[in-house]
Amino acid sequence: MAERRKYSKKYCRFCEAKVEFLDYKDPSSYLNSLSERYKIMPRRLTGNCKKHQVMVEQAIKRARHAAIVPYVASRKKVIDNPFADLKK
Ligand SMILES: [Zn+2]
Repeated sequence: MAERRKYSKKYCRFCEAKVEFLDYKDPSSYLNSLSERYKIMPRRLTGNCKKHQVMVEQAIKRARHAAIVPYVASRKKVIDNPFADLKK
């Protein structure tokens, strides 16, 4: 008997929402496919299907060119205030 999955099966959120077209001007639609440093997340982590991953990549690359999504996020930006707890 095959081993049971330990985690729930990944599914494509775009397929579930029946997305036919992704607008690069609407970042909220593809923000879940960006890492905290604004890198495009791979399919194996997000669960997107191939078709929608290509659409997401295309939209993000266009959005980067149009300065809607940053190309890089510096370490300073990611860690907002590491000494917040120390200040008193
Ligand atoms: Zn899909």
